[in-house]
Amino acid sequence: MRVKFADAHSHINPIKGLGYKIAEKFKNNNGWFIAFVSLSPWDYFDEFQGFISYKKMIDVELRECKKSEEVGIKTLCLAGFHPGDIDYIINKYNKDASYVLDLATRVIDYEASLCSKGELYGIGEVGRQHYKTMPERVAISEIILEKALEYAKDLDIVVHMHLENANRSTVDIIDYVVNRIGIKDKKKIIFHHAKPSMIPHIYNLGYSATLYGIEPVLEESFKSLPPVYMIESDYPDNERSRSLVTPWELPTKLINLSKKYEIGEDYLHKINVENVESAYRL
Ligand SMILES: [Zn+2]
Ligand SMILES: [Zn+2]
Repeated sequence: MRVKFADAHSHINPIKGLGYKIAEKFKNNNGWFIAFVSLSPWDYFDEFQGFISYKKMIDVELRECKKSEEVGIKTLCLAGFHPGDIDYIINKYNKDASYVLDLATRVIDYEASLCSKGELYGIGEVGRQHYKTMPERVAISEIILEKALEYAKDLDIVVHMHLENANRSTVDIIDYVVNRIGIKDKKKIIFHHAKPSMIPHIYNLGYSATLYGIEPVLEESFKSLPPVYMIESDYPDNERSRSLVTPWELPTKLINLSKKYEIGEDYLHKINVENVESAYRL
């Protein structure tokens, strides 16, 4: 068996980064699947024009995802409203929380309309800030997250969540909301950047998760976890930001560490293929 590799959460930016060339490099290193999740408008454009900037950003992302697919990598495209955007817009552009609430709800509604047309595959990143911020900003994050989860139920789409890491509590808080909304298929609700210690609880409650593909995290998971998660590079695709891992480095890292920890091909197949197929329903 020859293992194929997946990156279950990455970013793509043809303006300031490599764009679809990521897919070429990944394919040359036995990659088969990437989920590209939207960044923030200022990662692409210098001028901020509110809703128009989000629309333009999604256009760029969708076009680039098509190119990635043409390279021969199974490519899914998701767009969201990153919880960090709330702080950035208020701090940098001097807007109030009401402005951001209005903007973020419009963006999510727009993304949901693209999902129902089959252009976007799901919504992400949405969630909560992983750092301390003002309570009204967390409140907006929560509204946006719950709106995305409601769309996940109504449109039957994938949601990729960026959350704080309060271990079991983070998972339980999400599970409370997901149950209240009434989402039956929880596999399509994905915890991004999960900690290895959160994985058993996430799995037991029926959700999916991605682990950051850097050595310390992979070592911990290979030592302690069954193959019930996926791997992400969370590659920012911006030549100005440093990244710890790229999508095309994941296969080599995984192969080398799997030898060190005596992880078999079945395990690698589960985290790179089977779990990806079930979370992303391929
Ligand atoms: Zn994130
Ligand atoms: Zn990300």
